[in-house]
Amino acid sequence: MPLPPSVPDWMRPEGLPAHRMPSAQALQRLIAGNGRRRRERAGENLAPGDAVSAAFPFALVVGCLEPGAASEDLFAERPGAVECVRTAGPSLGSDTMAAIEYAALVQNVGIVLVLGHRNCAAVIAAREARAAGRPSLPGALGEWVPMAAAGSAALPATGGTASDSITGHVRALRAELRRADSLLSLTRSGQLKIAGGVLDDDTGGIDFLPDEPDDVVEPVGLPRADRRQYGS
Ligand SMILES: [Zn+2]
Repeated sequence: MPLPPSVPDWMRPEGLPAHRMPSAQALQRLIAGNGRRRRERAGENLAPGDAVSAAFPFALVVGCLEPGAASEDLFAERPGAVECVRTAGPSLGSDTMAAIEYAALVQNVGIVLVLGHRNCAAVIAAREARAAGRPSLPGALGEWVPMAAAGSAALPATGGTASDSITGHVRALRAELRRADSLLSLTRSGQLKIAGGVLDDDTGGIDFLPDEPDDVVEPVGLPRADRRQYGS
């Protein structure tokens, strides 16, 4: 049974609106904002946007820790409108999940965007570690490898391109979040959208993945039951 999509009222920030931004609108804002940022980076002169800080965020981006791989700045939004949580790949350790649940259940964001990036060394390193038979690694890295290499699970050990691995990684994490018990009531009712995208590191443009249903996303064997063992 999915848990009720609620937290105690005292956890909510004062002044939080009763209704979250519709998830489809939140996605369109991210797409439009990234298009604007990409055009700016390409040299277009655009009118300055609204610089007044947003009272509350409408979106959470779950991205990779590598330089330039994820930031609020990619979406040309007002300060405070978009939040980011960044881990290697990214991955979905317990701290990352808590950040996602906080944004979705406490702050009422309308969208969570899983953002990979084309030049991701972390996902490729995880894929190579997986191909090497998961050698003994220090700390939590050994537990991180299957999560970060999840997108490569459907590929032969030495086959597929780096791009396949990155896109597969984003799809795998998106499917995992769509299945998360704590978010199920929100995702199934459409109040919260879990989207995926891949950033072109050179242009700052994001290819948003088609919003396909989960049943067409290939099973990648994520160790769901063990996800909380992943350190972050
Ligand atoms: Zn990366």
